[in-house]
Amino acid sequence: MKRRPQHPSNTSNSHGTSRKRSTTPEKHPSKRPEHTPSQQKRNHKTRQLRLLATTLIALIALVVVAALLITWNNSHEQNQSATTPSTDTAQSQEPAPSPTPKNTPTPDLSWRDTDFAVDPAKTTWSFEPNGEKTVYLTFDDGPSQNTEKVLKVLDDYDVKATFFVVGLSPEHYSWIGEAYRRGHTIGLHTYSHDYAGVYASTDAYYADLDKIGAVVKEQIGYVPAFIRFPGGSSNTISRNYTSGIMSELSHSVQERGYQYYDWTGSCGDGADHPADVLISEATKFGDQENIILLMHDSQAKDTTVEALPKVIEYYKNLGYTFKALDRNAMVPHHGIGN
Ligand SMILES: [Zn+2]
Repeated sequence: MKRRPQHPSNTSNSHGTSRKRSTTPEKHPSKRPEHTPSQQKRNHKTRQLRLLATTLIALIALVVVAALLITWNNSHEQNQSATTPSTDTAQSQEPAPSPTPKNTPTPDLSWRDTDFAVDPAKTTWSFEPNGEKTVYLTFDDGPSQNTEKVLKVLDDYDVKATFFVVGLSPEHYSWIGEAYRRGHTIGLHTYSHDYAGVYASTDAYYADLDKIGAVVKEQIGYVPAFIRFPGGSSNTISRNYTSGIMSELSHSVQERGYQYYDWTGSCGDGADHPADVLISEATKFGDQENIILLMHDSQAKDTTVEALPKVIEYYKNLGYTFKALDRNAMVPHHGIGN
């Protein structure tokens, strides 16, 4: 029987053991018998690969976290911008007058061609306010060299108005058609605007009215029902030529299918005044629900054009809308003075 060599560590003697341990190869742990040089090389490579993999994972994690942070930050900013109006937005909400974009499509207004034509069968008119704060700007005595300027201001403020025209400036007749196409209403104010002539007799009045009716029909295709007497229905100058003619005409025009419009306020431009006086006069009617404002479109009335923007802004700021006269508009009648 072969005797197994006794391992020194198996000695029961503790002293002997400690002494013998110091002499065994285990005294040098780095020289572990299972690790050959090639194994050590492999282990070293494995450790390097593990280190590299760990570094890569850490880098990827960093990139992912950074990406998440950027995404969150962006959405946060977007939410803030959605709830906080920018300076530009706040400015655009100001009730500043807004010029009409030039490319705004023109609405279909062809219904006016039949609805606005003089027609004795149409006898329904409203003499009461329409329940809405409305300004009807009315320009008498055009067309003139100022018509283009008046239309420009009206366009800039997207405002529709009414022109009671005369026949004294054939060179400007085309502006009648142009004003109509831009959405304004055309009315008749007599051809000559000559008191002695138009109020010489009832027949003289209608002959003159037919003359301007023909001029307007040439421009817009029909004779409109809307008229305004020179001097208004309350004028007393007509008494100089025919007594009682306004009493007669105020009835007979309606029997013929016309309707006459006086005014509820005037800008005072019948006389020559600077623009600031006209503005002051024209802005006195904010207590009226419907304002039919008398103005003039003639060569001598440059200050009317000058005052017009401020007058429009004043009533817009009071919440008024501007409309051209139509068959639903309030008809203002003055008291007959002759
Ligand atoms: Zn006039």
